[in-house]
Amino acid sequence: MPISPLPKLHYAKLTDLHEDTLRKRGIRLLMLDFDNTIVPYTTDIPTGEMLAWLEHMKALPDIQVCVVSNSHNGRVPTISRELGLDCITYARKPFGKGIRQCLKKYGVPADQAALAGDQIYTDILGANGTGVLPILIDSIHNHNLWLKARHLLEVPFIAIARRKYQ
Ligand SMILES: [Mg+2]
Repeated sequence: MPISPLPKLHYAKLTDLHEDTLRKRGIRLLMLDFDNTIVPYTTDIPTGEMLAWLEHMKALPDIQVCVVSNSHNGRVPTISRELGLDCITYARKPFGKGIRQCLKKYGVPADQAALAGDQIYTDILGANGTGVLPILIDSIHNHNLWLKARHLLEVPFIAIARRKYQ
């Protein structure tokens, strides 16, 4: 599998992702990063728009949804349970452990799965490395200097991907 930092799709927010875009590409399993993709680090409560989007996606008969997070604490499983979302933690993105675990759990081949997340260096590298459709979502809120600095390092790849795929 290629080691690539380039997303194939890029949205300002997760709720901009429409199921028909996934269907057109034959996607049956949507993996979601958690922190800064569904909620920022600074709160446990998704926006009303995010809640409605999640409810809509969970109800789709042909696309399954699962959180795949690198998180090491109980926050992600707790909130995922409250949202009715299946979840895999300790995923070790950009490595393939959690992503492959999710594919196996749902019995879906990599080329029929997508991963949407806010970090090039974990989510996008991990998706490309496992053959899963990489979807970049802008971070909800880069609340500290480290997250802001990391985003600056991602900007060239975002620009390249925009020219190449859109
Ligand atoms: Mg994230």
